[in-house]
Amino acid sequence: MSFTLAIVGRPNVGKSTLFNRLVGKRLALVDDQPGVTRDLREGAARLGDLRFTVIDTAGLEEATDESLQGRMRRLTERAVDMADICLFMIDARVGVTPTDEFFAGLLRKRAKHVILAANKAEGRAGESGVLEAYALGLGDPLRLSAEHGEGMSDLLALLMPLA
Ligand code: GDP
Ligand code: MG
Repeated sequence: MSFTLAIVGRPNVGKSTLFNRLVGKRLALVDDQPGVTRDLREGAARLGDLRFTVIDTAGLEEATDESLQGRMRRLTERAVDMADICLFMIDARVGVTPTDEFFAGLLRKRAKHVILAANKAEGRAGESGVLEAYALGLGDPLRLSAEHGEGMSDLLALLMPLA
């Protein structure tokens, strides 16, 4: 039995960096439904002994006529509905923003299972942002550094019982 993990969160928190770390050089498939922008990437992830499908929500960075909030809602809802588990990422160095709170509300209502991750927390960086994350009401935040590979064994430990 395998599962699908969606990485969600506002632009620039490090979602694609984590996606690339989990997928490595294995080919990432691009979602190319007709008429839909290539805004969800799907890949075959490997972490320890676990194999699973990972979805990266992209496409929020590009400017279009539609508001960022509208696109975030539409994209995130699609990813959440495809996923067994959502990894909701915030930037520990920035702390919790109103946009993060918007996402948290959406996930609390809609997601089956949420892992809250405070990224960019390499070394002792972002400790106050990590503490702020407790207030999102999504459980204890996982300290992560997608770029430096820190916190990956803690992520594995959280995923194992859900696999
Ligand atoms: P996305 O928009 O959420 O997909 O974010 P990206 O993965 O594109 O990353 C945005 C920026 O944050 C890039 O400049 C990354 O190099 C940087 N970044 C990602 N993860 C980390 C991390 O763990 N620590 C630090 N310091 N920077 C990171
Ligand atoms: Mg990205």
